Amino acid sequence: MRTALFLTASLLSSGCLAAEQDTNNSSNEISSFGHNSAVISVYHHVSDTTPASTSISPAQFERHLEILKEQQQPVISLPKLLDDLEAGSPLPEKAVAITFDDGYESIYTTAFPLLMEAGLPFTVFISTGPIDRSQRGYMTWDQLREMVAAGVTIGNHGTEHASLLELSDEEIRNEILAAQTAIDRELGPRAKIFAYPYGEFSLSATSILRDLGYRAFAQNSGAIGPNSNFQALPRFPLAGIYAEEAGVRQKYLTLAFATNIPSPIDPISTSDAPMATLSFGRGNYHDEGLNCFDNGEILELERNSTDDQLITLKPIANPHGRRWHYICTAREIGSSRYYWYSQPWFNPQKPQ
Ligand SMILES: [Zn+2]
Repeated sequence: MRTALFLTASLLSSGCLAAEQDTNNSSNEISSFGHNSAVISVYHHVSDTTPASTSISPAQFERHLEILKEQQQPVISLPKLLDDLEAGSPLPEKAVAITFDDGYESIYTTAFPLLMEAGLPFTVFISTGPIDRSQRGYMTWDQLREMVAAGVTIGNHGTEHASLLELSDEEIRNEILAAQTAIDRELGPRAKIFAYPYGEFSLSATSILRDLGYRAFAQNSGAIGPNSNFQALPRFPLAGIYAEEAGVRQKYLTLAFATNIPSPIDPISTSDAPMATLSFGRGNYHDEGLNCFDNGEILELERNSTDDQLITLKPIANPHGRRWHYICTAREIGSSRYYWYSQPWFNPQKPQ
């Protein structure tokens, strides 16, 4: 058991679970347990010549689209996916939404034609300042209008890509509204969706976005379901070291836990050992198969003495940078899919 756990841990830290041997079940076996779950991916550049950590090559990106086809995963538009989840309408099995952040030109020149050819919807979250200034490397408003006319969804990523952790509540509100004013002026009224710059958010940012009627997206891994926080929705980054095929196959198939978080978990932590208490809910997995990790190392899980569904993740106090997360997974019984949740942490005292 110990070996298996460490195997899982090392695969998690390398961003890959798919190589794990399935000794008990056929990987193609269909679960009879109902899913209402989706995966959202986030990309930045689709180019061979942009920074590696936020880029995927055009060939790799095409491969990701082929994987979705091979795995028979329906790609649906982000607003529709969220509307259906919030309304309690069942999602298609293995639903996926594709997103891009920042508004780089390779989205227009490379990703857009590939996605149009494949007939797949997608969303681009744009920072409006660089586009207003016609900054080199970014799309133009004309290109964005062309994409809107083709059915692409455009979301809000702030004006100047400031981390909301650096702003006062009033500045956060102004930042969101100023970017939306630019988007709506240039493209007509758009859906109220916001992607946190750097994926960083605070409890006050989530409550401001909720008050303004936005759904908002982070950049930590995990699947989404009806119990997700709609102002802190996870997305799997699939560029750089996370672009390789085995991990991508696994992540696009992950399932949402039916999480229940009794009191909001503040993701801001100046400590390397923050604690989180939550229930992962019932699912088609064995309780003993639930594992949580900090940078690949297994976290101790403490079950509440009166409610054994309530679990506290006991921190290890590994040294961390500005952003990190705890990852919790459980393998679905009778399949090779994993339930996947992550809890992000941000230390604003550390540099970007
Ligand atoms: Zn960004």
